[in-house]
Order: sequence, then C-alpha cells, then structure tokens
Amino acid sequence: MEKTLSIIKPDGVGRGLIGEVIKRLENSDMKIIAMKMLKMSRKQAQGFYAVHKERPFFDSLTDFMSSGTVVVMVLEGENVISRYRDLMGATNYKEAEEGTIRRDFATDIERNVVHGSDSQKSASFEIGYFFNSFEIINR
Ligand code: ATP
Ligand code: MG
Repeated sequence: MEKTLSIIKPDGVGRGLIGEVIKRLENSDMKIIAMKMLKMSRKQAQGFYAVHKERPFFDSLTDFMSSGTVVVMVLEGENVISRYRDLMGATNYKEAEEGTIRRDFATDIERNVVHGSDSQKSASFEIGYFFNSFEIINR
C-alpha cells in the first residue's frame, strides 16, 4: 500500500481548517497512519523544501512554513500520492479544480493550506524527515 506525507500548512492550522482537511481525506479512503503537530525552525523548513532552493520563492516559502504550527501526517491508501494531490488541487488555487482543498480555501499561491508529496521518492524522503518507524502505525 502506498504512503504519502501530508502537511496542513500554517495558514490552514491558523484558520481552523485542520478538521476540514482531515474530514476530506478520511472521506476519500485514505488512512492516517501517523500524525503530529509541530512548528518548524527556518532550517527545518529549508531542509524540507531543499529541492526548491534555487527558486525565487524559496526564502518566502520557508519563512512561511516556519511561521506557525503545522500538522504533519502520513497517509496510506491505494495510489494515495496522486489521489491526495487531486484532493489538494493545483499549486495555484486559481487554476485548481472546483471542490479541491486549495480551490476552496487557499488565499495565495504560497498560502495554499496543504502540502502533499509528489512522487514515491519524495514521499519516502519527506516521511523520514518527520517520522521514525516507531511512530508510523503498521497495519
Ligand atoms: P507542495 O510541495 O507544498 O505540496 P506543490 O507541489 O503543489 O506544493 P511546488 O512547486 O512543490 O508545489 O511548490 C511548493 C510550494 O511553494 C507551493 O505549495 C507554494 O506554497 C509555494 N510556491 C510554488 N510556486 C510559487 C510561486 N510561483 N510563488 C510563490 N510561492 C510558490
Ligand atoms: Mg511540491
């Protein structure tokens, strides 16, 4: 069964959207097999988004991601990586499909409420970034 890393970003937690996001993924046949709340340091956020370090938005993105509490989850399900990306919607909420989390709640291309891994390779890096094997439910 495939696994992915989900983050409810500081804007989502700050606006009281934790329950809304979790309701949507639970209704979509994805199982939460690990979950924690934390606040990233700037360094942690930079390490997490290291693939984007050459991008013009890197400093702003990592400042934002370390600006407040996030909820980090490991989700499990069939094709969960792409199915969770579909649930989130496009990076730019203006281009996201109706009914997606970002279309419904994002306020800005950066403040787009949720993160989801984009491949098996990034999922395994990102899950390992926040969780050790004892913290992930083995079903
Ligand atoms: P995420 O990795 O957060 O799930 P994503 O895979 O849809 O989002 P990426 O291209 O990986 O999009 O960008 C990572 C994050 O950087 C985006 O979610 C958004 O918060 C921010 N971002 C992306 N593009 C821009 C941009 N052009 N301007 C400002 N911020 C951006
Ligand atoms: Mg991404």
